[in-house]
Amino acid sequence: MIKDEKDSKEISRRGFLELGSAAMAGVAGILSVADTASAQSSEKVFTGRTTRITDPGPTDKLLDSANPDISVPPLTDSGGVATFKYPFSLSNRRTFEGGWSREVTVRELPVSKAMAGVNMRLTAGGIRELHWHTAAEWAIMLYGSARITAIDNDGRSFVRDTSEGDLWYFPTGIPHSIQGLGSDGAEFLLVFDDGDFSEYATVLLSDIVTHTPKEVLLKNFGMSQQAAQSMRQGELFIFQAPVPGPLAQDQKLAAGNLGLSSYEFSFRTRDLTPTKKTKGGEVLIVDSTTFKASTTIAAAIVTVHPGALRELHWHQHADEWQYYMSGTGRMTVLAPGHRARTMNFTAGDVGYVQQSLPHYVENTGNSDLKFLEMFRTNRYQDLSLSEWLAHTPSELVMAHLNIDKNTYEMIPKTKAVILLE
Ligand code: MN
Ligand code: MN
Repeated sequence: MIKDEKDSKEISRRGFLELGSAAMAGVAGILSVADTASAQSSEKVFTGRTTRITDPGPTDKLLDSANPDISVPPLTDSGGVATFKYPFSLSNRRTFEGGWSREVTVRELPVSKAMAGVNMRLTAGGIRELHWHTAAEWAIMLYGSARITAIDNDGRSFVRDTSEGDLWYFPTGIPHSIQGLGSDGAEFLLVFDDGDFSEYATVLLSDIVTHTPKEVLLKNFGMSQQAAQSMRQGELFIFQAPVPGPLAQDQKLAAGNLGLSSYEFSFRTRDLTPTKKTKGGEVLIVDSTTFKASTTIAAAIVTVHPGALRELHWHQHADEWQYYMSGTGRMTVLAPGHRARTMNFTAGDVGYVQQSLPHYVENTGNSDLKFLEMFRTNRYQDLSLSEWLAHTPSELVMAHLNIDKNTYEMIPKTKAVILLE
């Protein structure tokens, strides 16, 4: 009982921070049992919303404390926005010899209709088997290194080694594979341009082999019954194999008589200068203007320093699928009809903002907040609240906000993208 009482006080104390010091003296009484009793006997009637929240009933205290802006919402929140967060930690992890895979699709996060994501780990030598699919695949390497293979529309071979920060993009129907390299394989994130897409419903080499009549398969390959005796049956998906040899050797072997593909399915981000850099952080935009292959998916890789803010903005033309790579933050999504909701995010979370809804992302932690903004489009696009107001006649804006000219002049004149506190 004593513990519960302490916890309910902690929720209230979190609320005090929002009220400011002037209000604190009046509200602080709730911390003392005696004051609570006297408040109850008072004839004063309180109405309206409050930050003085207690929760004596059953609740998941770990989740509550990890989600302070959901547990005690800002007074500006009014709810009514479809849930826009799903942690990969709650997804089923399919595990294999050779690695694991987990996904966030429209099944896990119903609002995420435009895009889906997969988080995958491959051991050194672990293979995500040869396959293709009905959606396009965008990827970023999060840890370690992997060898990727594909063929282009002319059947020419593409083989590359990718490491942390590298991207790749495989268009719909282009067959490919991924294999973890030494010493500890790889972990990466895949993003698909279809919220319904499941990584578990792809066209696999092992499926083709298993579900084609054996005599047809032999005829197709020109193999004898005897030569094909050891051929594997059943789905592989992810499996363990030896670490591959040198890249140049694999490239030469795969090229054959056709030669290597001139098409570049991968993209290196680590040598690029940020698209925008301010005191508060930086953003690197990668879309089809720079990464030519990526014709259906655009990305912004955002770093927000502690205390800084990814400014209030919206995207005119596409939903935003987010993946949080490090740090902690919060995002408010505003929707028509007086709706607003704030949710907290941490590394491994997926976030989602529907097309044209205003939002910001604030770093609430002590370390850099790094996340991806993904769009099902060939070009990145956004508008910020500040650039809108800065390029609207000042008298018109001042009349709306009831501010004087000096205050109006404080609004940034250009899009900052990331602001300091
Ligand atoms: Mn794939
Ligand atoms: Mn955004």
